[in-house]
Amino acid sequence: MATHTTRMLIIGSGPAGLSAAIYGARAMMKPIVVQGLQPGGQLTITTDVENYPGFKDVIQGPWLMQEMQAQAEHVGTRMMWDTIVEVDLSGPPFRAIGDSGDVYEGDTLVIATGAQAKWLGVPGEMELGGKGVSACATCDGFFYRGKKVAVIGGGNTAVEEALYLTNHSDDVTLIHRRDSLRAERILQDRLFAHPKITVLWNKAVERFAGDPLAGGLTHLELRDTVTGEASDLNCDGAFVAIGHAPATELFKGKLPTDDGGYLIVEPGTPKTAIPGVFACGDVMDHTYRQAVTAAGTGCMAALDAERFVSGLSIALDGHAEAVAAE
Ligand SMILES: Cc1cc2nc3c(=O)[nH]c(=O)nc-3n(C[C@H](O)[C@H](O)[C@H](O)COP(=O)(O)OP(=O)(O)OC[C@H]3O[C@@H](n4cnc5c(N)ncnc54)[C@H](O)[C@@H]3O)c2cc1C
Repeated sequence: MATHTTRMLIIGSGPAGLSAAIYGARAMMKPIVVQGLQPGGQLTITTDVENYPGFKDVIQGPWLMQEMQAQAEHVGTRMMWDTIVEVDLSGPPFRAIGDSGDVYEGDTLVIATGAQAKWLGVPGEMELGGKGVSACATCDGFFYRGKKVAVIGGGNTAVEEALYLTNHSDDVTLIHRRDSLRAERILQDRLFAHPKITVLWNKAVERFAGDPLAGGLTHLELRDTVTGEASDLNCDGAFVAIGHAPATELFKGKLPTDDGGYLIVEPGTPKTAIPGVFACGDVMDHTYRQAVTAAGTGCMAALDAERFVSGLSIALDGHAEAVAAE
């Protein structure tokens, strides 16, 4: 068991955490990144990425995250193979305890723990992930131009994803296990009026079928939730849109969250309710949830963390008026 101290402690190693680390390291904050169970974050479980700026050819998610980590390390970030199990936000310094028993102390804390997409948990879903099955229409819809796609879910996200997919496909089916949607009325009106969208009511997906090594997804095996009747729906792409689970368990009762469990920040900033504690990326963003927005807010968190630490050290030097002026 060891204690690691830094000016900037970052929890999470996705695009938000690593971007914060790059900026923090270049500001001489000697950041520590605790990587968690998914080093590199969610992009490591996808294949083609075509919307991260700077690459005209399609790049691979895991490769992008390796490069981001290498860049963060190159400028002076320390990466830790650990998962935080407890935090004490009464600082600064802010303390976090790892699964390993190690203690991490930071003059500032950057929370970048992300929000995992929820999956159905049925056969074929994981095997065909990135090969026809996705949880993000904004990310992957473009790959299904002119193809037949399905969206699974009944809330705002599912309806928005179905509407978004009509930019690429003329044949979009929304599949919902009940006979009415939870989505807002205005979204439902747009959905029902759309000529490219069909709704399948009372249908549960029981299996994603296809060959991951040859052609990917071919069809969905469905079960009627009322009659029990089985049926198939042929499609090239299926988008699971049943919500996200922000990784905020650690901060329950310590930082305010919204109804969906996302950390609340001061609008337009990564500042949480506790000075010196910042949140960036998907963990505070239920709207955009993209790698580039996560990286952008990671940058903002690092810049604000650096300002906070500067103010802090000035205060310790006895120049309180400079802090007050800030
Ligand atoms: C299948 C799929 C495909 C996608 N494709 C695209 C795409 O093409 N383009 C795009 O822009 N976006 C895409 N996205 C969305 C994108 O991946 C996310 O918006 C982005 O990864 C969010 O970054 P983040 O850093 O906020 O969080 P994440 O990437 O989710 O990273 C969270 C990090 O926090 C760590 N963590 C969590 N809890 C702890 C803990 N207790 N202790 C320590 N560490 C912890 C995890 O290990 C992980 O490293 C896709 C998402 C999925 C699921």
